[in-house]
Amino acid sequence: MRHLILVLGDQLDRRSAAFDGLNPAQDRVWMAEVAEESTKVWVHQARIVTFLSAMRHFAEVLRADGIPVEYRRINDVENCGSLAAELEAAVARLKPRKLVMVEAGEWQVREDLRAVARRLGVELEEREDRHFLASHEDFARHAQGRKQLRMEFFYREMRVRHQVLMDDGKPVGGAWNYDVENRGSFGKEGPPLKPAPLRFSPDAVTHEVIQEVREKFGKHPGDLEAFDWPVTEPEARLALADFIDNRLPEFGKYQDAMWTREPWLYHSRLSAVMNLKLLDPREVIAAAETAYRKGRAPLAAAEGFIRQILGWREYVRGVYWRFMPGYLEMNELGCDQPLPKFYWNGQTEMNCLRETLGQTLRLGYTHHIQRLMVTGLFALLLGVRPREVHEWYLAMYVDAVEWVELPNTLGMSQHGDGGIMASKPYVASGKYVQRMSNYCAGCRLDPARASGPGACPFTTLYWDFLMRHEPHLRRNQRMAMQMRNLDRLKEAEKAAIRGQAAVLKQSLAG
Ligand SMILES: Cc1cc2nc3c(=O)[nH]c(=O)nc-3n(C[C@H](O)[C@H](O)[C@H](O)COP(=O)(O)OP(=O)(O)OC[C@H]3O[C@@H](n4cnc5c(N)ncnc54)[C@H](O)[C@@H]3O)c2cc1C
Ligand code: SF4
Repeated sequence: MRHLILVLGDQLDRRSAAFDGLNPAQDRVWMAEVAEESTKVWVHQARIVTFLSAMRHFAEVLRADGIPVEYRRINDVENCGSLAAELEAAVARLKPRKLVMVEAGEWQVREDLRAVARRLGVELEEREDRHFLASHEDFARHAQGRKQLRMEFFYREMRVRHQVLMDDGKPVGGAWNYDVENRGSFGKEGPPLKPAPLRFSPDAVTHEVIQEVREKFGKHPGDLEAFDWPVTEPEARLALADFIDNRLPEFGKYQDAMWTREPWLYHSRLSAVMNLKLLDPREVIAAAETAYRKGRAPLAAAEGFIRQILGWREYVRGVYWRFMPGYLEMNELGCDQPLPKFYWNGQTEMNCLRETLGQTLRLGYTHHIQRLMVTGLFALLLGVRPREVHEWYLAMYVDAVEWVELPNTLGMSQHGDGGIMASKPYVASGKYVQRMSNYCAGCRLDPARASGPGACPFTTLYWDFLMRHEPHLRRNQRMAMQMRNLDRLKEAEKAAIRGQAAVLKQSLAG
C-alpha cells in the first residue's frame, strides 16, 4: 500500500487536502470510532451519536466514490479503544509506505498521532486544513508585534482579505460592526412566532448508532429522544437554507435574548455540521451576504452572523494554536472551587440554570448567551477551576471540539487566560439574566437581592466576585463602572454578601 489516509471524526470534508492525489488502486482511507473520544471527558450521548453517525455516512460517501475505506466501528470486538492503538494496529496490518492526513484539530490528538508515526518509523504527512479561511501563518502575521490581540481587528482584516460585505474597499453600510443593534430582548409577550427549525429524523444508519450508544454509553449524560441533528452534507445544506430563509432576518436583533422552552430562537444550529467539516464556512458566509444583498435580511443581521463565523470562529482557532498546550492550564484568577454537581443533572432551584442545563441535557445545545451568561457566568462567579469548566463544556455540547470550545470556555467565559480572549471578565448580576430572558419570572429567587432570604445567588456571587478580585479588577479600565458601583455598597451589606457567598460556596462544594 502506498498511502494510508487518516480521516478523523471532525474531518468529514469531501474537498479536504487529504484526498489530493489519492489513487484508489494504491491508497486507502482509514477511519476509526474509538471509545476514548467519549470517555476522556464524560461525553453527552447526542454528541457521540452525531459524530459516529456523521462518520459512518461519510465513509459511505467515500465508498460510493470508489475509495476503499478501512473503517473500525465502536462495537468491533478487536477495537482497541484509542486512536493511537487503532492506528498502530492498522499500520501493522496494512504496512503503508506513508500516512497522510489533514492537520488534526486538537493539540493532544496531533501529538498522539505524531508519536505513533515516530514509534513505527513511518512518515506522517500533515496537510493544511483548507476548511478554515485563516491559516496558522495568517494568524501569526496578524498577531505579530501586537501587545494585545482583539477579535475586532482580526475580523476587519478577514473582511478585506476575503472581500466579504465590502463595497469599493469600504465596509458595506459604512461601519464594520452593528453589535449595538444586536442586544434586543423580548417583551413580556415573548419571541415573535417563527417556523421551528428543520428537523432531521434519524435514518437507518443513525438509528443503529443510537441503539449502540444507548447500549455502550447509556450512563453518559443526555437524552436521545429528541435527536434530530443533521449528519450529512446534504442535510447540512438544507439546515443552512432553512436558517437563511426563516431565522437570519431576526438573528442580529435577538442574538443575546433567552426564553423558556425556546432553545433555537433565531440561531442557526450550524456549529456542529461546520465543526465536523460537513459544511464549508465560505458557503455559509456567502449565503448570509446574498440574503442581505437581495434585501431578504437586514445588514445588522447578516453582519452579526458573518462576524461569528469569519471573525470569532477563525479567531478562536488562531488563539488555540498560538497558546497551546499551556493554555489548558491557565488559571489567572486562581479559582479552586469544584463544579457543582447539578451541572450534570440540572437539579437546582435556580430557574435560569435549571432551564439551561435541562436544555443542554435534552438537546446537547444551548445558544451562545446561555453558555456565556448563565452556565459560564455562574461557574466564573463561584470561582470554579477553569479546567473543570472546560471539561464540562467539551463533554456536553454536540458542537464541542477543543480548538473552539477551550478558548471560549477558559478564555472568554472564565477569564482564565487573563485577557487573551476578552479584555475584561464577562460578569453580571442576576439582573442581566432578568433583562435578557423570562427565567427570573419563573424563579422563587429575586435577582435584585444580594443577601438575605430569597437572594439570587448570581447577584450575591457577583458582588462577592468584585470584592474577591478587587485589586486585579481595579487595574482594568473597562471594569471602572462596575467597581464604582461596588464602592456605593455599605460595609454592612458587603459583610452580609461575603457571609452569604461563603455559605453558598460551601454548600455547592459538597
Ligand atoms: C463557554 C462557551 C463554550 C462554547 N463552546 C463551543 C463549542 O464547543 N463549539 C462551538 O462551535 N462553539 C462554541 N461556543 C461558541 C457558540 O456558543 C456556539 O458556536 C454557538 O452557540 C453554536 O450555536 P449556533 O450554531 O446556533 O450558533 P449561531 O448563534 O447561529 O452562530 C453562527 C455560527 O457562528 C459561530 N460562532 C458563534 N459564536 C462563536 C464563538 N464565540 N466562537 C466560535 N464560533 C462562534 C458558530 O460556528 C455558529 O454556528 C462556545 C461559547 C461559549 C461561551
Ligand atoms: S432570580 Fe437569579 S437564579 Fe433565579 S432565574 Fe433569575 S438570575 Fe437565575
